Amino acid sequence: MLLVYIDHFGGKPPVAAWEALGAGSLFVTGSDLKAVVMGSGVEALAGEAIAHGAHSVLLADDDRLKEFRPEVYADGLSQIIRQSGADIVLFPTTSRARELAALVAVDLDTGITPDAIQLVRQNGAIVATRPIYAGKLLTTEVNLARRPQLLTVRGRSFPAPDSDPTRSGEIARIELGLAQPRTEVLGYKQSGGGVSLSDAAIIVSGGRGVANNPALHPPPELTNEKEQEIWRAREGFKLVGELAGVLGAAVGASRAAVDAGYIPYAHQVGQTGKVVSPDLYIACGISGAIQHLAGMRTAKTIVAINKDADAPIFKLARFGVVGDLHQILPALTSALRQRLGK
Ligand SMILES: Cc1cc2nc3c(=O)[nH]c(=O)nc-3n(C[C@H](O)[C@H](O)[C@H](O)COP(=O)(O)OP(=O)(O)OC[C@H]3O[C@@H](n4cnc5c(N)ncnc54)[C@H](O)[C@@H]3O)c2cc1C
Repeated sequence: MLLVYIDHFGGKPPVAAWEALGAGSLFVTGSDLKAVVMGSGVEALAGEAIAHGAHSVLLADDDRLKEFRPEVYADGLSQIIRQSGADIVLFPTTSRARELAALVAVDLDTGITPDAIQLVRQNGAIVATRPIYAGKLLTTEVNLARRPQLLTVRGRSFPAPDSDPTRSGEIARIELGLAQPRTEVLGYKQSGGGVSLSDAAIIVSGGRGVANNPALHPPPELTNEKEQEIWRAREGFKLVGELAGVLGAAVGASRAAVDAGYIPYAHQVGQTGKVVSPDLYIACGISGAIQHLAGMRTAKTIVAINKDADAPIFKLARFGVVGDLHQILPALTSALRQRLGK
C-alpha cells in the first residue's frame, strides 16, 4: 500500500505536496491513494487532500503537532506507517519533508531514495530515477532489501492534480502516543520576503555581473567602495525584478550575489541553495559554475545573458545573449511588456 505525506506550514501546503500526491496516483489502482496529514487544526487540509485526488486520509490532528518539530513528527509518522502496513511512502522534496523522511527511515530501519524525477513500478517496487553528482548524471535505483520504500519527489517533476472540491473520501482520525518533545519553538521569522523558488514556473536570476555597471554613479554620500558596489547591485537587481514582474516569475540569485550581500539567501539557487526545475530559467550575469548548475540544470529552457561569450553557462543554455545585462534587460522587459500587454 502506498502513502503520500502531505507537507505543510501552518496548514498551508506547498504545490510540491500535491505533486507528490500526483506522483502517487500513478501507482494505485482503484481507490487506494492514501494521504497522511499531521498537524493541529488541520482537518481542512485533509479535505484539500481529498479534493486533490486522495481517496482517503489518515489524519493525526493533535496539539503536540502544532509546530513542526522533526523528532515528534518522525515519531508520529513512523507509528502511522507501521500501523497502516504501507510498503511505499512518498514525500515532496521540501526541506521539512526531506528531514522528516530521513528520520523516519532511521526509525523504521529502511532506506530512502531522495529527489526522484521519474518513478516506475517494477515487480511491486518503485524504481526511481534521480540526479546525482550535482546533476551531472542520472541514476536509476531501487531499494530491494528493506520495506517500506521511502522516496522524496523533486518539485515540478510530476503534475499536481487539479482540486475538485466535489470529491469525497474517508478521513480516518488516528490517535498517536507521541514522545515528549525535546525542543520548543519560540517563534518564526520570515527570511527573504517569502520567495517561492521551488514552485515558480519561471525564474529570473542575477549573479555577480548584476553589480557591474560602471556607468551608473552612486549617490555622493556613499563613499565606501563596498557600499557603492551593493548600491549598484541593488539597482541591477531592480532590472532583474522588473523582468520577473512582467513574466510573473520569481527572482533567483547565484551564491556570489548572496555572499556579497546583494540579495538575501532565500533567493540562492544551487548546490547550497534551492534546487529548482522551472519551465524557463533566465540567468543574468551568472558564469555557470558547477555549483550553480547543480541547482537549475533541470530547468526546461535556459536563457543566459552574459558579457563573456566563453562563460560556461552558454554550454547549458538553449538561448544565449552575449552582451551587457544592463542594456539587454530593460530592452527585453519593455518588449515583453508590449507583447504581453502589461
Ligand atoms: C561548496 C560550494 C558550494 C557552492 N554553492 C553554490 C550555490 O548553491 N549556488 C551558486 O550559485 N554558487 C555556489 N557556489 C559558488 C560557485 O562556485 C561560484 O562561485 C558562483 O556560482 C559564482 O557566481 P556568479 O556566476 O554570480 O559569479 P561569477 O562567477 O563571478 O560570474 C559573474 C558573471 O557575470 C558576467 N558579467 C559581468 N558583468 C556583466 C554584465 N554587465 N552583463 C552581463 N554579464 C556580466 C561575467 O562575464 C561572469 O560570467 C558554491 C561553491 C562552493 C565551493
